[in-house]
Amino acid sequence: MPEQPAARLVDAARAALAGAVATLMPVACAGCGLPDLAICGDCRAAITVDSATEVSRAGLRVHAGLEYGGVPAALIGAFKDGGRADVARVLAPALSASIRAALAGVPRAASGARGAGLLVATVPSTPAALRARGYRPVPMLLAECGLRPAPVLRLARDRDDQAGLGAEARAANAEGGLVARKRLDGRRFLLVDDVLTTGSTLLEARRALIAAGAGVEALAVLAETPLRLERRSGSSR
Ligand SMILES: [Zn+2]
Repeated sequence: MPEQPAARLVDAARAALAGAVATLMPVACAGCGLPDLAICGDCRAAITVDSATEVSRAGLRVHAGLEYGGVPAALIGAFKDGGRADVARVLAPALSASIRAALAGVPRAASGARGAGLLVATVPSTPAALRARGYRPVPMLLAECGLRPAPVLRLARDRDDQAGLGAEARAANAEGGLVARKRLDGRRFLLVDDVLTTGSTLLEARRALIAAGAGVEALAVLAETPLRLERRSGSSR
């Protein structure tokens, strides 16, 4: 008996729904590919952080929750470049541990807890990366940590009208770097990024904040790339 048009419509609707559900509910572990789980127990254990580590890059002291490589690298890759926004939730505790450790090094104010009065700054995504992902990875991780960054930095665009810029912005423009959106005199920042490699990105972000009059009190990243692995890290911003 030939298939009825109505039945084909139902099949098409069912297929569309299955596609939508597969998009909403991951069907393979983002770390190792094990089917039917968003993240498996082994991969979850691999990113469980007892304490953050402090590393030195580009003259900066930076705290990191994870070492970039293996399962953490697979999960971060899935999160940043594999469309797996759901992985933010499982990565967030490692960033949280890193931030706590970074804040522990901030001198306590006369009154208030460590980190009180600090704003959180992040490195802006490029427009191309934002278009490709549809979300901003670091602010998304921070939201899972209960923090919201202040959108104080922007990419210095190649074709910014140089005449309208101050000396610092012109310099950043020339370097293809970052620039603050406004003066930040007296503001103090915790600077957060996802993957630390050479430290040049954080160094540039810190430079732009300081150029705008801000202070940078602490730096925290989700993961640091051990120097011996530098050449292998290929996570895009
Ligand atoms: Zn797994």
